[in-house]
Amino acid sequence: MTARIIDGKAHAAALRAELKATAENLAKRGIHAGLAVIVVGDNPASRTYVRNKVRACEEVGVLSQLHEFPADVTQEALLASVRDLNADPRIDGILVQLPLPPHLDEARILAAVAPEKDVDGFHVQSAGALLIGAPRFVPCTPAGIMYLLEKEGIPIAGRHAVVLGRSNIVGKPMALLLLQNDATVTICHSKTPDPAIHTRSADILVAAVGRLNLVGAGMVKPGACVIDVGTNRTPDGKLRGDVDFDPVAEVAGSITPVPGGVGPMTVAMLVANALRAASLRRKD
Ligand code: NAP
Repeated sequence: MTARIIDGKAHAAALRAELKATAENLAKRGIHAGLAVIVVGDNPASRTYVRNKVRACEEVGVLSQLHEFPADVTQEALLASVRDLNADPRIDGILVQLPLPPHLDEARILAAVAPEKDVDGFHVQSAGALLIGAPRFVPCTPAGIMYLLEKEGIPIAGRHAVVLGRSNIVGKPMALLLLQNDATVTICHSKTPDPAIHTRSADILVAAVGRLNLVGAGMVKPGACVIDVGTNRTPDGKLRGDVDFDPVAEVAGSITPVPGGVGPMTVAMLVANALRAASLRRKD
């Protein structure tokens, strides 16, 4: 293997330690950040993510509240809960764990979260602020990736970055952040005829599709930084990314593993956003 492994678990632990100090400083000013997590149904993956988020909050010293609803909860009941949390002075951040069951209007529910409590950065106001280069809350996964790139000393300005995937929660904000850091950015999606044409010239390649082993060694420029966001299950139940890790690691300069790469950073960035929300909201 030639690539340097980017240890997201270690970076996330270091960030959580910094955030703990931030939380302690806020506590000295009488500010105790609070995060409310809304989870609907019993999707096992969602449950695991929520458990990790609650655990990270506890470690750092952010109060977390879990609001659980059955899979058949009505839109009105969920909206009422969001409104209550918007008005609750103990709550600085509100997270609605996605995906929601199909009978619920995801866009409407996300739009109901008060923008100043939008710690996931999914509200249209947060998205717009990021678009114009004045971000308030940046979605946690792309924010975590930018943190990794910075800490690993990966140059961005003037480099070609290719993002596979254009979702509102990963691909698009990722591309915007890279653009704001002066990369030349290409976005590929399901209608891109041959993504490899683009990826082969990428200095930074971010794969955020959700397809096991989509990125093979032949798609990667020698020495590139490869960031694997995808989470997929192998037939024998193992968690793996979108990147065919072993062969790609022979070509890339650095690479994030799955698990232990982007995932832990997503969770740590959520806690960072909750503390930021607490600090912004209580500022006179
Ligand atoms: P999503 O909403 O399903 O979006 C997937 C994107 O991939 C879409 O934009 C789709 O294009 C594009 N796509 C599909 N086939 C493609 C191909 N062959 N080449 C290039 N692009 C292609 O998924 P998401 O929410 O962005 O998540 C993506 C993956 O990241 C999933 O595996 C998810 O579980 C994982 N994830 C991980 C974390 C973490 O913390 N580790 C956080 C969030 C998400 P169209 O727009 O044309 O359909």
